[in-house]
Amino acid sequence: MKPIHTILALYTVQMAFFAAIWLAMAWLRLSRRATAHWGVATLLLAVGMGAVIARPWMPPALGSALPNLVHLLAAALVARGVRVFVRRPPADRWLLTIGLPAMAVVILANGFDAPHSWTVVAAGLGMGLLLLRAAHDVGGGLAAEFGRPAAWACSVPLWLIAGMLSGRALLALAGVSGSGQTLDTGETRQVVMSLALVLLAMAMHLTMAAMLMLRLIQRLRHLSMHDALTGLLNRRAFGLRLDTERVRQQRHPGSMALLAVDLDHFKAVNDRWGHAAGDAVLVAAAQVLDGAARRLDATARMGGEEFALLLPGTDLAGANQLAERLLDAFRSLTVAYEGELLRITASIGAAVCDDPSEDAEELFRRADRALYLAKTGGRDRVVCAGVLSVIDPPSPAPGAASPRRVA
Ligand code: GH3
Ligand code: MG
Ligand code: MG
Repeated sequence: MKPIHTILALYTVQMAFFAAIWLAMAWLRLSRRATAHWGVATLLLAVGMGAVIARPWMPPALGSALPNLVHLLAAALVARGVRVFVRRPPADRWLLTIGLPAMAVVILANGFDAPHSWTVVAAGLGMGLLLLRAAHDVGGGLAAEFGRPAAWACSVPLWLIAGMLSGRALLALAGVSGSGQTLDTGETRQVVMSLALVLLAMAMHLTMAAMLMLRLIQRLRHLSMHDALTGLLNRRAFGLRLDTERVRQQRHPGSMALLAVDLDHFKAVNDRWGHAAGDAVLVAAAQVLDGAARRLDATARMGGEEFALLLPGTDLAGANQLAERLLDAFRSLTVAYEGELLRITASIGAAVCDDPSEDAEELFRRADRALYLAKTGGRDRVVCAGVLSVIDPPSPAPGAASPRRVA
């Protein structure tokens, strides 16, 4: 066995190994459609390289055409899997426009016994273009999700493999000696090319696996920070956000408001219409709160039918104004559920923190106490807890209602 065959056998085993990993991931439903594409593609790469090794035992035309056809199909599947992974339409027409003519040339060239360089040009350019597209899709398609540097870093092995295959095809097209030969000739150039292919293929699979892991980590992080029903921040994430805002407040002194929101008589919705109706009301309420919040604000579901809004850079008058707007939005909210229109109101307790050294627990306590007073005061209202000078603002903004009560 020549050294080149050892390298090609190594590549084949490597591909079989990665194929097993991708197919196992598909079976575990990890980005299932994309990993299934990559699993089948990698299996085809193993079969294709196996066919290169088995060339001496095959009819020459078949030995030349089969590996290239299989590799073209694999490249198309890699590119299609990438499109699925980056959540873009599969672009099948484009894949067929590149893949089919390349396959046709490979079949015809071998059917008519044309020089092998024809096969190298058609297969190399076809695979090169398919993988260039995949590289571009990785870099562009994942930039928003992972950030530009990480997305383009993930695309590097694909660019390199695509460049290498296209470069080999262009050299063969230009008639540079040795460029149009098969990989298993054992010549130095083919050995170097095969070694590079082994390393780049490994890098490609590892970066694709890294993409999958990055997405998984982001999903887990999202799940750990957000409420599953409403999609708002959960209590833990809200606490972290509050800490961050308080650190910012130490550097840039100013007011920060906290609204504690509790739906009124929510239990009655559950009791009368069922838990699913209650869930629909919670989702609608979350949309009201999120819709009213600015980009800098944080909206959380603290548990059950209790929500909280953190309003950086907001004083008591501003918090009261937003709370009144929210109450109006709840009053006009109707939730359609099984032919019925459900209505709900909310009570809000507002507290403002001007002193960054104030204990976060204390801020929550003041907002909760204000909420309690809003409940005992008859519900569907806002009560503000805070500093006396802020409660009676010198010139309230037009249309702003003044706080109803002081906790
Ligand atoms: P109040 O006006 O005093 O706030 O009365 P309330 O009925 O809104 O408050 P209470 O604390 O008595 O009831 C809250 C109910 O919220 C009880 C609980 O079963 C229900 N609940 C908590 N979490 C969920 C949930 O995720 N979905 C649904 N549908 N109900 C929930
Ligand atoms: Mg309630
Ligand atoms: Mg409650």
